[in-house]
Amino acid sequence: MAVLGAGYGGLRAAFGLARDVRVTLIDPADSFTERVRLHERAAGRQDVRHTLRPLLRASGVTHLAERVSRIDTAASEVHTDDGRVVGYDRLVYALGSRTGDPGPARPGRVFTAETAAELHRRLHGEFGRLTVVGGGPTGVETAAELAESHPEWDIRLVTAGQVAPGVSRRGRAHIRSVLTGLGVAIEEDHQVPDADDLDSDVVVWSASMVPNTEIAKAAGLTLDEHDRITVDPALRSTSHPEVYVAGDAAAAYTPVSGPLRMACATALPVGLHAARSVVRDLGGLEPRPLKFSYYAQCISLGRHDGLLQFVGRDDSPRDRILTGRAAALVKEQIVRTTVRTIVMTARSPRAARLIPGVN
Ligand SMILES: Cc1cc2nc3c(=O)[nH]c(=O)nc-3n(C[C@H](O)[C@H](O)[C@H](O)COP(=O)(O)OP(=O)(O)OC[C@H]3O[C@@H](n4cnc5c(N)ncnc54)[C@H](O)[C@@H]3O)c2cc1C
Repeated sequence: MAVLGAGYGGLRAAFGLARDVRVTLIDPADSFTERVRLHERAAGRQDVRHTLRPLLRASGVTHLAERVSRIDTAASEVHTDDGRVVGYDRLVYALGSRTGDPGPARPGRVFTAETAAELHRRLHGEFGRLTVVGGGPTGVETAAELAESHPEWDIRLVTAGQVAPGVSRRGRAHIRSVLTGLGVAIEEDHQVPDADDLDSDVVVWSASMVPNTEIAKAAGLTLDEHDRITVDPALRSTSHPEVYVAGDAAAAYTPVSGPLRMACATALPVGLHAARSVVRDLGGLEPRPLKFSYYAQCISLGRHDGLLQFVGRDDSPRDRILTGRAAALVKEQIVRTTVRTIVMTARSPRAARLIPGVN
């Protein structure tokens, strides 16, 4: 049994499987990166990575610290950059996503969440104009965090539509007011074709998230129009049922929630469900359909403010919101609980199966 990717979805799946199956987890990193804190990393926070070794030891999962280069579905083999070949009977594909391409850019000027540490070094001890591109939750969180931690930088947030289109009118008004209070200039309805077009010393590109599904595509797995792998209700690839998919790479769907958005909040329960499905499948039972519904979305606005947007089961925003320090505290607790859940599930196979994860 192989699990590809040691992010939220992959770890949740690997630890959920470890009691019943021998699991090889393939990811070049020797630590788990809290991607939901990468904007904090850009602002100077250090502890966003957690070494995998104690978790792997506790769970019995074998780690192959290599990059997956291709999957041979006919031979049921995963190939790595270093020439290693790992056979599988079932596979969990959880290679996540990355920031969309900002286009060609001069070196040292354009950054993304993936280059958060370099961005921090670039900002430290300097000042100038910085533009965050993208008004979704990642762009909003990044602009707020950088404005709070680096007030010497002149920051603007540029977005093609309106800021935080997924939240309620009241929620959006709160986001606008906090960003403005932190000195962030907001430019809505501004389409930026590529990062080098902007008159800015530093650009942080947060315009889109792209699923890491090139390897799946090359292996012949069916993708949807957003390049996510199409899956059945039990999270099996619709074209290759021996491949289960978790996290941002999966076009997962439930009748109650509709299509699941790319989020840590969805990757954890989906990763767990993929594990449960594989165990039933290997035991000769029909895997059950995923059950999932939303109840809130959390957006941090620096370290002292935030937005807790209550949503319907289908992720549509309600009027009800929580803001200010209370929302910042809730968001921080949720992010901490995410890591605690992963640690607990590595240590306890029973917890690995029972705790559904946090939204
Ligand atoms: C700044 C920021 C803030 C965010 N805030 C939130 C938030 O508040 N709430 C929320 O719900 N979501 C948030 N998200 C989104 C969330 O981080 C992702 O949706 C989540 O990480 C998806 O989990 P995953 O397991 O699918 O992928 P990931 O966590 O990205 O893990 C993928 C893993 O696959 C590995 N990998 C990739 N390619 C290969 C390869 N070829 N071979 C082997 N391994 C490979 C990577 O090393 C990585 O370990 C945020 C994202 C960003 C960037």
